Amino acid sequence: MQDRPHHPTDDSENPSSSPSSSRSRLSRRAFLRGAALAGASGAVGGGWFRGGRTPDSDPPPSDMRYRTLGRTDLRVSEIGVGGYPLRDGDLIRYALDHGINYVDTSHCYRGGRSEEAIGEGMRGIRDQIVLATKWCPYHIGRPARKQVFIDMLDASLKRLRTDHVDVLFNHQVGRNSDGQGLPRLQNPEMYEAWETVKQAGKARFLGASGHDADLMQIMHWAVDSGRIDVILCRYSFLDYPEQQKLIDKCHEKGVGFIAMKTLAGARGADLDAFRDSYTNFKQAALKWVLSNAKVSNLVISMSNRRQVDEYAAASGSPMAASDYELLDRYASHFSDQVCRYCGACEEACPDDVRIADILRFSMYEKEYRQHGRGSQAYASLIVSERAAHCAHCNGLCESVCGYDLPVRTLLIDAHRRLATGYPRDPGPDARAG
Ligand code: SF4
Ligand code: SF4
Repeated sequence: MQDRPHHPTDDSENPSSSPSSSRSRLSRRAFLRGAALAGASGAVGGGWFRGGRTPDSDPPPSDMRYRTLGRTDLRVSEIGVGGYPLRDGDLIRYALDHGINYVDTSHCYRGGRSEEAIGEGMRGIRDQIVLATKWCPYHIGRPARKQVFIDMLDASLKRLRTDHVDVLFNHQVGRNSDGQGLPRLQNPEMYEAWETVKQAGKARFLGASGHDADLMQIMHWAVDSGRIDVILCRYSFLDYPEQQKLIDKCHEKGVGFIAMKTLAGARGADLDAFRDSYTNFKQAALKWVLSNAKVSNLVISMSNRRQVDEYAAASGSPMAASDYELLDRYASHFSDQVCRYCGACEEACPDDVRIADILRFSMYEKEYRQHGRGSQAYASLIVSERAAHCAHCNGLCESVCGYDLPVRTLLIDAHRRLATGYPRDPGPDARAG
């Protein structure tokens, strides 16, 4: 076992620069510690600043810390509400009482019902919330016209009961989400719409988010373009070397970096097995992300008060040795089970199976327990993109996966669970993620 801290720019150990051989040589503990050290030089703004734009002298009953979101003037809580599953508007007020002032949703989350619940919950406290929503690719249509973008935001604002959002993301920019990928971020009509809504005071900062295999290419382009203020990107203790280069660039250029998919798959039906006297796996995973001072904050799905309590507690306390041990135990169990959505295996598939997307849909259903989200999304795939073929295949994809995942087995299991209960293509909302 190697014991010197890994640094993401050290190519001799960099898992992003070589396939599975270098990954398997790398000590998991060194892997975990190295990423935390990589971002530790930046300044973290702490202190009690409860509102997005208005200081509050009354400190919240938590140790929540706040950071500045890139070059924006927004001060955001280290932990943000991921609003996909949110049904109870009171949860927004409860989260704010725990210092959480960043709330993320989308036009397409549960057909707009996430925005409606958040709008209900923000009544009377809107000025204390930093609010983000998204332009959903599946509702934009082709060609993507300026007026469609504007109308989509207006619909979101109506549901959110507000006259503006603080961050407006282009959601799921990637080759699979709408078949376009980067051209969506280069669409002049999108920028014309953006200038119109910005001038009207309906949105303050522009963002980009994505999941697809071309995520890194798209995010680097977004940051280099100078037109994108904030990115929302996957980042976890099992998935970081490429992201660290992007995070460094964001830090240099003043682009906010918001992390998602921070639980590294949240594998295991009972994560309480990964708990010690002081913390649990999820808190350790969140603390690991926040130990990188160049990360602006993170969002994580919240649907009940227990989750708010659990996740809010991850802010304001540094990584302890026991946290590293928890993550190391998790990695030893699940590192070869968690897809990083790199898409490297998809080239090897003789069919068109959307491997990374299917494994992400499976995670929503099984690990996140967001019942219906994964199976609806799966139902939106055309037959050749599904994993029905895998049971009769010799699994060429597995030989390409640099993380040694039993890809075929995972896909067969995903298909078994996802391919029931929904008609083919239930509509654009199902593809939102
Ligand atoms: S098991 Fe075969 S059909 Fe399924 S994704 Fe892998 S290569 Fe493609
Ligand atoms: S199965 Fe492996 S190669 Fe394929 S997307 Fe997931 S991590 Fe990448």
